[in-house]
Amino acid sequence: MKLELSAEDAAFREEMRDFFTTEVPQEIRDTVREGRELSKEQIVESQRVLNAAGLAVPNWPVEWGGQDWSALRRHIWHEELQRACVPIPLAFNASMIGPVIAHFGSEELKQRFLPQTANLDIWWSQGFSEPDAGSDLASLRTTAVRDGDDYVVNGQKTWTTLGQYGDWIFTLVRTDPEVKKQRGISMLLIDMTSPGLTVRPIELIDGGHEVNEVWFEDVRVPAENLVGEENIGWDIAKFLLGNERVGVAPVGATKRILAQAKGFAKEQRGSRGGTLLEDPLVASRFVELENELLALELTALRVVAHSADGKPHPASSVLKLKGTELQQAVSELVVDLAGPASLASGAGDDSALPGWARRSTPTYLNLRKASIYGGSNEVQRQIIARTILGL
Ligand SMILES: Cc1cc2nc3c(=O)[nH]c(=O)nc-3n(C[C@H](O)[C@H](O)[C@H](O)COP(=O)(O)OP(=O)(O)OC[C@H]3O[C@@H](n4cnc5c(N)ncnc54)[C@H](O)[C@@H]3O)c2cc1C
Repeated sequence: MKLELSAEDAAFREEMRDFFTTEVPQEIRDTVREGRELSKEQIVESQRVLNAAGLAVPNWPVEWGGQDWSALRRHIWHEELQRACVPIPLAFNASMIGPVIAHFGSEELKQRFLPQTANLDIWWSQGFSEPDAGSDLASLRTTAVRDGDDYVVNGQKTWTTLGQYGDWIFTLVRTDPEVKKQRGISMLLIDMTSPGLTVRPIELIDGGHEVNEVWFEDVRVPAENLVGEENIGWDIAKFLLGNERVGVAPVGATKRILAQAKGFAKEQRGSRGGTLLEDPLVASRFVELENELLALELTALRVVAHSADGKPHPASSVLKLKGTELQQAVSELVVDLAGPASLASGAGDDSALPGWARRSTPTYLNLRKASIYGGSNEVQRQIIARTILGL
């Protein structure tokens, strides 16, 4: 395996680095660097800066704003975004519904939605999961019944991330209850201001409001908002979920946070005299995590090098599994470095305790989600066992 970038790819990396660190507002990047919550406006602004330069949706077809880059260049783009603390373009728009509409949507749907989706003029939410349909997604029960030119939708979705900002939601709905469960599902695009649609917040353990329940009571949806044909929703969902797992191992961001953590460890006094970083047990945790991240980075590059036609490689499950485990391990190390200060998450910004220490426990708690969403890690293990190990 060749580990060095070609001169052209190295120049491309410099170009990305230069753009991200000079064109995306510093205040937005500082928010990411310090692990503070981004506002909706910051996420939108950052994506618009990228989109204006053709850098928001490189994975889309070129005619809709994508870039004809190699898989390696897309990987470099993604790594450099994270390194520069630029928010990744909103996944619901850029990685999920955009490619789906470009692939399955009618010309009318493409014209109507793709430019606004790339520019984040429309904020999309993902309405797949239901209380009894997460890993077993095909069991979903929300119904859509055809009535004249509309579908009438009834049911409940759950865990809808950032649904409080959503303008539109792409949903999987049951259009035929009589056939095998995978064959009776369709995808509908629903305006979230439709009468009968209610978004209710779910409060999380870290105190944040990131996910919601979405209820549909006799919501009328024009039939032209169907993506593809009726009852092919399962094929669309598989296409979308395959894309969802690409880029799920946030190696660049985890490396950056681990490097920051090293800085924190240098500032803290250890129990044996010197700094915490000089404590052999702490130092060995850093070394172990750095090595594992390096191995993951090399694996990610191998996957990128072998992915054909932009199709997700089965090894993306390995990246999801290991990437989220390392994300969680690094957040745990930061809590340990903060020590008792990690309990002070309620203290305000006027506290004498450093912000990173106060934010360490909420971040640790929030990251428990990483091994659940995008397909739980137990399910990833099953995919690895079946498709890679042939068990
Ligand atoms: C923070 C967060 C944000 C989310 N955002 C969204 C969103 O925006 N839109 C959306 O549609 N969904 C979203 N989800 C839902 C997410 O996709 C599901 O939570 C996930 O697919 C798991 O489904 P479940 O919660 O129903 O758990 P279940 O499927 O009930 O699983 C419960 C446990 O059983 C295990 N398990 C299940 N099946 C198997 C199996 N076959 N073999 C071994 N173990 C198994 C699971 O791994 C898990 O540990 C989000 C979830 C979280 C936590």
